[in-house]
Amino acid sequence: MKNKIYSMVLGAALLLCAACGGTSTNNAQSNSAAANGKAPKYIFYFVGDGMSQPQITMAEKAISEPGFREQFNKQTCNIYNHDGSALNLRKFPSVGLATTNAENRFITCSAAAATALATGYKTTINTISMNGDRTANLETIAEKAKKAGMKVGVVTSVSIDHATPACFYAHVEDRNMYESIGHWLLKSNFDYFGGGFTRWDKYKDMTKDQFIDSLKIKGYTVTTTRKDFDALNAQSGKVLATINKVTSTKIDGSALPYNIDLDIQQSDDDRIVLRDFVKKGIELLYNEDKGFFLFTEGGKIDWADHANDAISNIYETLALDAAIGVAMDFYRQHPDETLIVFTGDHECGGLTLGFAGTNYESAFQLMQNQVVSFETFGQEMREYIKTNPKFDALLAKLQENFGIGGDGALKLSEYETKRLKDAYLFAKGDKSVKLTDEEKHLFYGGYEPITVTTTHIIDNKAGVEWASYSHTALPVPVYSMGCGSEQLEGYFDNTDIPNTMMRLANFK
Ligand SMILES: [Zn+2]
Repeated sequence: MKNKIYSMVLGAALLLCAACGGTSTNNAQSNSAAANGKAPKYIFYFVGDGMSQPQITMAEKAISEPGFREQFNKQTCNIYNHDGSALNLRKFPSVGLATTNAENRFITCSAAAATALATGYKTTINTISMNGDRTANLETIAEKAKKAGMKVGVVTSVSIDHATPACFYAHVEDRNMYESIGHWLLKSNFDYFGGGFTRWDKYKDMTKDQFIDSLKIKGYTVTTTRKDFDALNAQSGKVLATINKVTSTKIDGSALPYNIDLDIQQSDDDRIVLRDFVKKGIELLYNEDKGFFLFTEGGKIDWADHANDAISNIYETLALDAAIGVAMDFYRQHPDETLIVFTGDHECGGLTLGFAGTNYESAFQLMQNQVVSFETFGQEMREYIKTNPKFDALLAKLQENFGIGGDGALKLSEYETKRLKDAYLFAKGDKSVKLTDEEKHLFYGGYEPITVTTTHIIDNKAGVEWASYSHTALPVPVYSMGCGSEQLEGYFDNTDIPNTMMRLANFK
């Protein structure tokens, strides 16, 4: 209730802007929206999951390091080809800041945060676009866009029924009700779903094939290969486009691979990245009649945060920034009719760009030595440790994949070697290591012990520290450009973001 009042107070402080039918803040810049006089016809809404300013600044610092861009493009098979060292986000003229708390918790989750970002209402933890006590559905900005005659698309790098994208088309009591979310997807009638597939491995009453058949009955074309994806065009009708990896259910099954791992993926079919899904979305949704609304999430930024893996996080952030670059190209062709809004749903990991052990020094270039995600390396470690390797053999493996060890800048201190040795013994189940549950959680957070200890060490050497394996309450930045974007400047609540967008677009 408190948040609602806060939101209403902010709303009352805004003045009605007759020209665009929305509201505008009482500042000089709002005149440009009035002069523009148009509701946005093409709306891009980007969300970086687990992404606040520390993640953005970290990626920006990394890409400015000599050789980083080349390394990034090598690892990702050239997905990012923008010029200069600044992120695309740097070019956004309007900047705001938003609070993120849930209705019943100061630190939010992706479901409550995305409900706020999709509907303009606060809700409770784990709730998908329903009110806090889960008795009523909350209409989403995407549903309103559809009602207004726009074509509507939802794109994500994680599974399409994950909490954040689900909040734009589904209304369920709990984010883990994947099958119910799948049914909402089927009846959404949205024009385009792109990126990860559904968590069909969690379904009880439907097989994957039955779900795909249901999509086809609803008129969707479903693609899982590069060839079929490339062949999609404006005449394809409704589309669900995903990748070949949809056939496997690894730990992060139904999500796109980590960008840092793209070069080790087997198939070109698995290398359709977020940027490609946004580009295809524009091709499929573009129309001069009523326009479109395209929501895009960079979902694995959050997962790399949870795991305290800075370089994988940077790769995911840059991949989202590359996707934002595609929207900016579109904006340049339709500057008077386009609105692009970017925000994070919450910070995650308690990332900070400084570390007690390195004082004022940063050495981001050291992170380039890591060439694999925590996820892929962790899976390898779980198998490797079963072979009972010697500690020295493990250290050689760490040097190969993370560059740590030797006599250079990544030389291991006695303390760091001890931490690795403890993690190695703990992973082996060696009885000489006795850890309390509290210690286990604080050291490893439920992750593969050797991997998370290694990312902690390399990140610390770079001058980066993590305070948590969970989300934090840091406010999130809101970057926007185009039709009415100046109305998203200032310090407000996350519910004000969609409310402002809906007013600008005249959604009912
Ligand atoms: Zn999370």
